[in-house]
Amino acid sequence: MMCGCLIDAHKADVLLLEKNEKLGKKLFITGKGRGNLTNTADVRTILDSISTNSRFMYSSLYGFDSAAVMAYFEALGLRLKTERGGRVFPQSDHAYEITDCLSRRLKQNKVKILLNTAVKKILVRDGRITGVMSGDGKIDECDCAIVATGGISYPSTGSTGDGYRFAAELGLKVTDTCPSLVPLNADRSICTPLAGVSLKNIRVTITDRNNRKLFEDFGELLFTHNGLSGPVILTATSRLPRNTDFSALTLHLDLKSALDLKQLDDRLIREFKENSNKQFKNSVGSLFVHKMEPLMVELSGIDPHKFCNAISREERHAFAALIKNVEIALKGRGSYDEAVITKGGVDVREVDPKTMESKKVKGLYFIGEVLDVDALTGGFNLQIAWSTAAAAAKAVSGEK
Ligand SMILES: Cc1cc2nc3c(=O)[nH]c(=O)nc-3n(C[C@H](O)[C@H](O)[C@H](O)COP(=O)(O)OP(=O)(O)OC[C@H]3O[C@@H](n4cnc5c(N)ncnc54)[C@H](O)[C@@H]3O)c2cc1C
Repeated sequence: MMCGCLIDAHKADVLLLEKNEKLGKKLFITGKGRGNLTNTADVRTILDSISTNSRFMYSSLYGFDSAAVMAYFEALGLRLKTERGGRVFPQSDHAYEITDCLSRRLKQNKVKILLNTAVKKILVRDGRITGVMSGDGKIDECDCAIVATGGISYPSTGSTGDGYRFAAELGLKVTDTCPSLVPLNADRSICTPLAGVSLKNIRVTITDRNNRKLFEDFGELLFTHNGLSGPVILTATSRLPRNTDFSALTLHLDLKSALDLKQLDDRLIREFKENSNKQFKNSVGSLFVHKMEPLMVELSGIDPHKFCNAISREERHAFAALIKNVEIALKGRGSYDEAVITKGGVDVREVDPKTMESKKVKGLYFIGEVLDVDALTGGFNLQIAWSTAAAAAKAVSGEK
């Protein structure tokens, strides 16, 4: 849609083929329906937020950065606001306004739109695009085809990986894909009873079988019925490489990251002193959120009925160590159905980063999530879509 808006209508006739009954289905659900369309961060910070192939994005991001995206939408009449972490949303909190204003601009720009039209095949002769074939066998001849089919996450929105197939059928490289920005499945004996509990400012570490640290971050974590979610978990799935076997990894929670072991032990001494005539299980209320108390008591191995004044120094030390390191066995990534983004895609080594044109097939362009580029949450993935769209639009309009 963005590419169709930006192509110079005097230089090209544009046909937009969309297999859904309406445009921008995924846009409707972005940012929990509020549409976090970009981020006010400077290009350097945006590049740092891109987990895969950030260098490929250098040229297109500088060509159409987030300030340019915001100015463009505002010129289309969309009023914007900026929230925590530079996240930009429509002032109305309605993601559909993004689609609405792009649709209006497409019309103005004389882009012909065919809905309910799935492209089946991209036609190439002598290394050049000649046309595209849609579901009913109809062929639309063209000099350029811009593939903006998205990834394979949330396939109900229309992104079912068709672009990967088109690329592969033409002999282009497609890197392995996996769900990213996705919850993790984890030991249900720990997570299921805590489903719905959210922990803020938590330190999360992920290690492999050899106790090698692969990931560490602070942030918010959410227990789910099947495992773990929340910003810090989504970040882990974005930052760790796609071949990571999460089922072989262990997640460590530091529930009191502001205190070192000694400070925590001092705190426990105070707690147990104040509660000296209470049973252990009734003494931990000020240490953990209510739903976590039974788990921590159980994991401690201390007799829950023991009076606090009878807890030994060794037991207390072990309890402090547990609070700083609750271990949860991971069981793997969640599915594409619950992933915000797909990691992997059309290999960017075969795509010109200035124009998004395939280096192997003349007139064939790839933009947005179909490319092997992905980023953290915060509006960065849509920024990738806008910037790559702008680069392709410029190229097919014959602009330098
Ligand atoms: C729940 C959720 C929330 C998100 N929130 C945010 C957010 O707040 N901020 C952010 O930056 N990113 C967010 N993202 C990611 C962002 O939505 C995507 O990165 C972005 O939409 C990718 O744009 P795209 O145009 O490449 O692909 P898509 O938006 O997936 O669009 C691809 C389009 O191509 C169509 N299509 C596919 N195959 C064919 C075919 N063969 N023929 C014709 N049409 C076809 C599809 O129907 C679809 O309309 C979110 C994603 C999800 C799933």
